[in-house]
Amino acid sequence: MGYLICERCDGYYQLEEGENPDDFDRCRCGGYLNYVEDIEDKTFIDKFNFRRLAGILIGAIIMLSSYYIFSADPYSPNFVLYNNTIAFLIWVAGGLIGALLAGGNIRSGISNGFYAALISGLVVILYFYYFITNYFTNPVMADNIAFFAALCVVYLLIPAVFSMVGGFVGMFSRKMILKFSMI
Ligand SMILES: [Zn+2]
Repeated sequence: MGYLICERCDGYYQLEEGENPDDFDRCRCGGYLNYVEDIEDKTFIDKFNFRRLAGILIGAIIMLSSYYIFSADPYSPNFVLYNNTIAFLIWVAGGLIGALLAGGNIRSGISNGFYAALISGLVVILYFYYFITNYFTNPVMADNIAFFAALCVVYLLIPAVFSMVGGFVGMFSRKMILKFSMI
């Protein structure tokens, strides 16, 4: 008993009683199969692998480049959010490239896009609104928290919509290409 997980497409097979992991060499997609005792191990591998972490970090760096080109300052004429098609495309590209590097299935591609936006958003908020211009000086703590929440919408949630679309598009087209390369 146990499971075989494909390195390439993230598909898995449950072994039947009497089947040996060595009887199976490759997945239908051509990827190598790895044996795990339990499917819990699979989700563990899925959550904590370095390839995924590297993909998310590179996605976050790509997304951050939009704040290097445009301004994170809402009073600036080239503020990143207003009508900024290039920034939107950079966010989509960040999610897409990050997801492709991280691998996994479509669902993990979408969540990798979100994580890239999460890291990039927190870096901008911390760097621009805390270190450069300390806006968190309101004596009322609740006001600071509300301000932080508003910043999260602008720098985290809105970019995340784009990077999650990018993650989906990347993993979906990869799956389609793998499918057609099989024929
Ligand atoms: Zn496979």
